[in-house]
Amino acid sequence: MRKDGVLENRMESEKPHVPEELTSRMRKQGYHFVGRHSAAKICRYSANSMEKNGKGCYKHKFYGIGSHRCIQATPAIGCNLACRFCWRIIPEEEGFKWNEINAMGDWDDPVKIVDGLVEEQKKIISGYKGKKTVDLKRWKEANDPAHVALSLTGEPLFYPKMNELISEFHRRKISTFLVTNGTMAHALENLTTLPTQLYVSIQAPDQELYEKITRPKTAAAWKNFQKFLDIFSKKSTRRVFRLTLIKNLNMVNPEGYAELIKKGKPHYVEVKGFVFVGGARRDDRGLSYGQMPNEEDIREFAVRIAELSGYKMVDYHESSKVALLAADEKAAGDRIINFEK
Ligand code: SF4
Repeated sequence: MRKDGVLENRMESEKPHVPEELTSRMRKQGYHFVGRHSAAKICRYSANSMEKNGKGCYKHKFYGIGSHRCIQATPAIGCNLACRFCWRIIPEEEGFKWNEINAMGDWDDPVKIVDGLVEEQKKIISGYKGKKTVDLKRWKEANDPAHVALSLTGEPLFYPKMNELISEFHRRKISTFLVTNGTMAHALENLTTLPTQLYVSIQAPDQELYEKITRPKTAAAWKNFQKFLDIFSKKSTRRVFRLTLIKNLNMVNPEGYAELIKKGKPHYVEVKGFVFVGGARRDDRGLSYGQMPNEEDIREFAVRIAELSGYKMVDYHESSKVALLAADEKAAGDRIINFEK
């Protein structure tokens, strides 16, 4: 260390944001870190759609996204909620000393993040080339990503240079789905470069359930969420609600969901079934395998919400267990995204 502190400062700014014990656990789960706070992980549909006769995910069926060319990533692995159904490792549950809300100091450059994510994706899929079942044309295409889903884990709006990050993806002809948790109204207000599709997760239909399910780490979370929806409704891009339905917990009060839909005015509502995986399996989350709704449960609840909000159910993806509602005929007929690569 130099006495004038120059080297010390540089080292300080290069310190990883996330504790090593957490990153090492996440690496074992298949996360690939890029810089200090971003990560990518291949999803099973991306891998499967590189196969001959492989199938894409619901984003392919609903919106035409090429699953094999999609990077599943996050620019910020920390989160200010601790949702019971979340698959991620929630640091305090595991005894990791990391205050994920205030842990951030310097943030990585957006161009470096995009470079890093694209390179990491290529590394992740490099091993697939040798598989006999892989379609080589698709594998080659996968080396040139055309879409990014900023939804992997954490709250992406923690990253303060989101405008620049989205611009950089779009400059490279990579379409963007940004999935937020609805807490960071101020960050949403400052979002002027909008993603191809802007999502907000809807965890519950009313305040009591919201607090029970999301276990927020900040005060006035429900109030902030309402404010977020107001701002969300005015963002001029394709807006989407994503509901995660859990039997005997938040599959109640469809009127409450309809109210939220009227407030946020999404073009689409994705009604998804909860999956009992990862962190959601911890005993202290209080969830069970039996709380995963089946197709009939999801369709029935989705139709009820649609009736109450004036939306229409327009599609269903079986293996992802997700129903799609559209706001009107225009949204229903205008689903496919043409983002030329
Ligand atoms: S907001 Fe998303 S990342 Fe954060 S705890 Fe909830 S499900 Fe997990």
